[in-house]
Amino acid sequence: MINNFMCERCDHYMVCEKLKPLMKFHESAKKDMMITLTMEECMDYAPDADVKGDDSASED
Ligand code: SF4
Repeated sequence: MINNFMCERCDHYMVCEKLKPLMKFHESAKKDMMITLTMEECMDYAPDADVKGDDSASED
């Protein structure tokens, strides 16, 4: 699984080419990889203006 799946709050979510390999580790994946990842940073992350109320991953 991915601890902080920041992609769901990213404006590129629907078109991102990096997602395919990442989704192998997402909790919705068919096969559990038995590996837990934490996303530190994505250089292409663009905060989705439509998603409000959870800014925990926006800045640290
Ligand atoms: S650009 Fe980065 S944060 Fe955005 S969906 Fe792609 S991998 Fe996730």
